[in-house]
Amino acid sequence: MDDEIEEMEEDMEEVMEEVGLSSCKSSVHMSHKTRDVLKHCETRNKECGLFINSVSEQTLCSPFLCCTVGKSKRNYVHFLVWSFKTAQQHWGKCLSDKNKSLVPDNKNLHILKLVLLFLLASNPTDEMPRNFPKMSLCEMDESVLLLAEKVYASALKEENNRDAMALFTVPEDCPIGLHEERERELQKGLAEQRSEESARRMKNFKQKPLCSPPEPCQASPQENLPDFQRVTISGDYCAGITVEDYEQASKSLLKALFVREKYSRLAFHRFHRTTARFLRSAEDTTWSEEDEVLPAISPCPGVGQDPYSMEDIPKDLGYQLQMKDGIVHVYASQGALEQQEPLCLPYPNLETFAVDLSHVLAMIADGPTKTYCHRRLNFLASKFNLHEMLNEMAELKELKKVPHRDFYNVRKVDTHIHAAACMNQKHLLKFIQETYETEAERAVLERGGEKLTLGQVFRDLTMNPYDLTVDSLDVHAVSNAFKAAGRQTFHRFDKFNSKYNPVGASELREIYLKTDNYIKGEYFARLIKEVAHGLEESKYQHAEPRLSIYGRSPDEWLTLASWFIQHRLHSPNLRWMIQVPRIYDIFKSRKLIPNFAKMLENIFLPLFEATVNPQKNKEVHVFLKYLTGFDSVDDESKHSDHMFSFSSPKPESWTTDENPPYTYYLFHMYANIMVLNNLRKERGLNTFQFRPHCGEAGSITHLVSAFLTADNISHGLNLKKSPVLQYLYYLAQVPIAMSPLSNNSLFLEYSKNPLREFLHKGLCLSLSTDDPMQFHYTKEALMEEYAIAAQLWKLSTCDVCEIARNSVLQSGLSHQEKQHFLGPNYLQDGPEGNNIRRTNVAQIRVSYRHETLCNELSFLVDAVKMEAAAMPGQ
Ligand SMILES: [Zn+2]
Repeated sequence: MDDEIEEMEEDMEEVMEEVGLSSCKSSVHMSHKTRDVLKHCETRNKECGLFINSVSEQTLCSPFLCCTVGKSKRNYVHFLVWSFKTAQQHWGKCLSDKNKSLVPDNKNLHILKLVLLFLLASNPTDEMPRNFPKMSLCEMDESVLLLAEKVYASALKEENNRDAMALFTVPEDCPIGLHEERERELQKGLAEQRSEESARRMKNFKQKPLCSPPEPCQASPQENLPDFQRVTISGDYCAGITVEDYEQASKSLLKALFVREKYSRLAFHRFHRTTARFLRSAEDTTWSEEDEVLPAISPCPGVGQDPYSMEDIPKDLGYQLQMKDGIVHVYASQGALEQQEPLCLPYPNLETFAVDLSHVLAMIADGPTKTYCHRRLNFLASKFNLHEMLNEMAELKELKKVPHRDFYNVRKVDTHIHAAACMNQKHLLKFIQETYETEAERAVLERGGEKLTLGQVFRDLTMNPYDLTVDSLDVHAVSNAFKAAGRQTFHRFDKFNSKYNPVGASELREIYLKTDNYIKGEYFARLIKEVAHGLEESKYQHAEPRLSIYGRSPDEWLTLASWFIQHRLHSPNLRWMIQVPRIYDIFKSRKLIPNFAKMLENIFLPLFEATVNPQKNKEVHVFLKYLTGFDSVDDESKHSDHMFSFSSPKPESWTTDENPPYTYYLFHMYANIMVLNNLRKERGLNTFQFRPHCGEAGSITHLVSAFLTADNISHGLNLKKSPVLQYLYYLAQVPIAMSPLSNNSLFLEYSKNPLREFLHKGLCLSLSTDDPMQFHYTKEALMEEYAIAAQLWKLSTCDVCEIARNSVLQSGLSHQEKQHFLGPNYLQDGPEGNNIRRTNVAQIRVSYRHETLCNELSFLVDAVKMEAAAMPGQ
């Protein structure tokens, strides 16, 4: 056997030699690069391309590979050589068939070799770990654990005790507190001066040049980058805090970034390039583009292509599926299932997640880290003010020179909008009146076996649609928001959701705003198509509406997919998302499901089935192509008495009527999406992003969970309350979809909204509408959102275009669309990645953001490196 392998390896080396890449040691990400090569083949020679495709499909998906991965590179080589030989045989047969057109020319053979080479080079054992690195609690520092628990406990008490927030924020409004704080700092500083060791380390920092981004970030002089005035500070880094504190803060911040990177990579979420570069530099390695993990998003079907085509559906893999600990596990065969040997996919584990979470939780309450972050954020805000003062005119001048492009024709994506409220109230009213006029005799509702026509429904409600006005429709939040009683309502989502009932009548909601009703969701589909039509007309606006999957029954997916296909809802201006309401408690109390695991199974198992055997689940398979992500929704201020920890019951044992806490929901959604993404990526299918509602209200710990598990979040208001988290979201450039008009009606007055402050500091923000039906007055709800923000906060054109650019980056639009809307290099850092002719964002602004981020990150990396260098014996 060994001899055989050796021979194969020699063969392979020969192949590598032949194509002149024998010394190539690059590790290329398998699916990404390989598929590029495949595409290339396809355009060259269809038959050859298809064949290679089928070979590599086997290679990528065969159970053989899956057992091999993570075990031995030798087996892998063995297998590749085998596929190569099979390929040659196949072509041999083509030759004897005398079908010359199928005979590969030398070039194609060359390409085939390259494909195999890529597969070889991308042996995932060298690359991304295909398993979820497990940690156990005993590896953890007890003090960290204690602190984390304290944070959690105080967050639980928070509803009754506002002072608990003192744990997270620097007390600003208490003069005595401030004075004492300053006194403590002074004493610490003095003590440091007396210590020789500290003085030596301090000197170390001073010797370093102030701004030292590692190689790749060195701002290369750009032809199209106009000169601008930069704000620099001289002196040592840690002015204001002691060296020890600075080092400690840097270490924990970096640790948190590493943790997020790990979770992002495993789930095919994005991780900001600049940050990744600095993390590599902290590890003394270099970042390379091949290492980058990006989500796979299906491109928009071109003209003439049928978006609902059920041809070319991949075949059944014959895998078995089973839910274990709330996470779907995949098995290569019935035998593997019986032996409990799942395929090698990264299955997250609750204990490890609890450990990682505890680190970040402990950190947000850690004194020195808090102080450091608070100071850096203040600095960022002041720095931007200076930048604006010095460069505002230069930025505007730059924009003036751009032909054709202005704020109206840059692409904007409504990154957070609920499908059931994506039309404004006037639109809904008109639609109701129209249907009443033309279809009054149509049966639209079934109640107790009796079919009701639209006319009857209105007669039962004792109303005539002609008399309806926007006010009597009463779906607008503002009409009640100013009444004291109204305020109360809007702090409670369960009551708030009844606002979705036009005229307070659930019948109308059932008829007009549901996908699954007597008329098979026809009216709802028509409404959405009208909205989509409006977006297509305006051309530059896109939206990402969320449709609901509840987890009540496994049939929900098929119903939704059939609705989507039957009503032909695809639009180039819409990208779809799924929202999962956190309402286990309601289903459980109505005895619809026995435990939490059942709900997860109803939500996720059909997706795995459609991925493993698309032939049997054609509708769902087609619908999933247009789905880009998942959202977790509900009132965040809803209280859960359970404290999430490593010892929380497994979903199968979660049988109480109580709703699991937010973090528990997030972890289990993330875990299933992550496994699913890995499976789909292997099959060459699109992946999904997790984009929960987070930080709108409720505990600050929600933002910690999302920092680990989410690609991006909606709302993020509570970042206001924790400097550490805010700074982390900045450093990792976690995108946030903010909806100040929605907040204004529900949780936070417009003028107190932190959007402007976040934007100035450089957090990655986009503007979104949330629920146009309830918050907006005009047909162009997204424009209304931009217009109000711009007016109220005096945002410049450059500001709003920067937000618009962020919204495209954050969205689930495909790579091709983003290249088209933002410029071909949009993935690059800094000004190189910005095409001002497409985005209308000044290069000066982009450079400022990039240099500032590099600066902040380099402080952290330098602190850690300096400490290592100062260590004796090194
Ligand atoms: Zn929302």
